Amino acid sequence: MIIRLDGGIENKSTADFLAALEAGGATLNMVQSGPGVWVVVSNLTGDTRAALEQSKLVLERHDPEGEAFFVSRRFQAADTLIGAGTDQIGAGRFQIIAGPCAVESAEQSLKTATFLQGEGIRYFRGGLCKPRTSPYSFQGLGRAGLAIFQTIRERFRLRIVSEALDESCLEMILPHVDVVQVGSRNRQNFSLLKRLGAVDKPILLKRGMAATLDEFLMAAEYVVVHGNPRVILCERGIRTISNHTRNTLDLSAVPYLKKVTHLPVIVDPSHGTGLRDLVRPMARAAAAAGADGIMVEVHPEPGRALSDSMQSISHAEFHRLADEVTQIFRLLDSFRN
Ligand code: PEP
Ligand code: MN
Repeated sequence: MIIRLDGGIENKSTADFLAALEAGGATLNMVQSGPGVWVVVSNLTGDTRAALEQSKLVLERHDPEGEAFFVSRRFQAADTLIGAGTDQIGAGRFQIIAGPCAVESAEQSLKTATFLQGEGIRYFRGGLCKPRTSPYSFQGLGRAGLAIFQTIRERFRLRIVSEALDESCLEMILPHVDVVQVGSRNRQNFSLLKRLGAVDKPILLKRGMAATLDEFLMAAEYVVVHGNPRVILCERGIRTISNHTRNTLDLSAVPYLKKVTHLPVIVDPSHGTGLRDLVRPMARAAAAAGADGIMVEVHPEPGRALSDSMQSISHAEFHRLADEVTQIFRLLDSFRN
């Protein structure tokens, strides 16, 4: 059960009440986000449930029964904004996150960062720990790539987005990144999601390749309930009967998610299609569908990329894409006004 309490947790009667619930076997989870003190109470028995239902300290009770609550617009009607100024993600600014699938070398990454900075991009993406289907494929530079992130941050003032493949990768990259990415394969890694709740940086959560939108929202709910309200949702395509693309980019997810959640929603047309010719058209479609941004794989020599070469686009293609999606976003914005 989710409850909202009268007064802060430093208040003696509130603290006593919560202690009594715990003594009765309930598990408490303090959720810091939103107005008031919100607590998730689980493992309720007949006695603790009755105490909850009768206490005057409890101003609101919600029994969401498998439905996401804190990420929903029932909890918060206004859009969540992440970042500030030109780095803002969500509500009113179309943010393009771009970079290689994997950081391969200083030369490849710095060429990309130079190009992206010239394009006015604020977020550089690139993995150091890569989830590859084959153990024989390039697995990422790991620790050896941290100095590259440092240079990109200092020299180009770009923000870094990188995937935490597991908890040890998270601890390694955390001081060196600005946004932690959770990959499609980790959407169900609940211990990782809980750990990310304690991270004081935004989380870019990708949709599981076989996740319904309710399951996707529940993954975000895990992070929020465990203390981190800054989650960005990313539609990246799902597995369907279609095999002309790597995944089926589910663009109806964008207006649906924007309706039910206050979190920013972005789209990854690179993994969503797997084919470089389709990235630009689907990036345009994502902007038209109302996404808050896109994440795109770009490489100085796409044909030579060590990871996801088939879907990596060139600098020239990226330039056209960025120009087109920005125009589409502006047009859409004019419809809202
Ligand atoms: C990626 O962004 O490079 C990636 C591995 O994405 P996904 O988890 O969506 O497959
Ligand atoms: Mn990739």
